[in-house]
Amino acid sequence: METQTFAPDQAGFSQAAAILGDGGLVAFPTETVYGLGADARNDLAVARIFEAKGRPRFNPLIVHVPDVAAAKRHVIWDDTADRLASAFWPGPLTLVLPLRPDTTLSPLVTAGLPTLAIRVPAHPVARALLTAFDGPVAAPSANPSGRISPTEAAHVAAGLTGRIDAIIDGGACGVGVESTIVGLGNTPRLLRPGGLPQEAIEAALGGPLEMVQSGDPLTAPGQMTSHYAPGAKVRLNVTEPMHGERLLGFGAVEGATLNLSVAGDLTEAAAQLFHHLHALDQGGGTPIAVSPVPEVGLGRAINDRLRRAAAPREA
Ligand code: AMP
Ligand code: MG
Repeated sequence: METQTFAPDQAGFSQAAAILGDGGLVAFPTETVYGLGADARNDLAVARIFEAKGRPRFNPLIVHVPDVAAAKRHVIWDDTADRLASAFWPGPLTLVLPLRPDTTLSPLVTAGLPTLAIRVPAHPVARALLTAFDGPVAAPSANPSGRISPTEAAHVAAGLTGRIDAIIDGGACGVGVESTIVGLGNTPRLLRPGGLPQEAIEAALGGPLEMVQSGDPLTAPGQMTSHYAPGAKVRLNVTEPMHGERLLGFGAVEGATLNLSVAGDLTEAAAQLFHHLHALDQGGGTPIAVSPVPEVGLGRAINDRLRRAAAPREA
């Protein structure tokens, strides 16, 4: 199939919406990373996402909607959801809530789980596409499964050209790491660190988030240990790179091939992370060493992605 590229204008949005309506796949920018969208009510369309990405079917997808009213059509809403949505939507926060029994969504979206991950994106292009399409859009990151997430249209094209119908080119993503996922229904739990800092969520809740235990059945889908993997080996928390390694720096370090943020700014580092990993991945397998990144705020999401990039590969 030929993959078309659309400009982020009305003509682009309406062509992209028509493709979604026909059960096709459209990659589009969100504030976190580029998403690969399909009509979340259409089994065949959702199945195509899994095919195009080579994504395991047991790994559920996040559904994107324009506002809280639309979210309430798909999940059983509660007071905590209300509090978090008022504080952080639209934005890089995904809520996992019980699916409504009268849902019209394809069961492939949730991989058969009784819960749904849902979010209201802030990016104007994502919002314009949701408006033009006027329906729920299932969208995981627009990259082959297990590889580095895309923060630019060129990353999407490099990974998925010929496998998807279209890409809306909306420039680089501002946040640069995927959404933070919080499980609700009972005690709020952090299921995945991401673009909204844990500390901000805890401040809005007025108390700590519960942390997931590894191997927890609710979160096991998709939280594969090896993920975001470049072709090259990755070594973390490196202060003295070895001969032949390229250093991905953080802060005022010497000899870095690329630096996430010379100023040591975590927001800038998150926005640069996948861009720099993609760039270093062009280096023909030369191993990558990464400077230590502090485990606070967006540093938690950055370290989570780096640990998965460094993890031993499953086959
Ligand atoms: P991605 O869209 O690639 O960023 O991945 C979405 C992630 O959301 C998956 O890897 C899951 O870990 C998580 N997720 C989606 N749906 C659920 C759910 N119903 N319960 C728990 N986690 C979920
Ligand atoms: Mg992904």
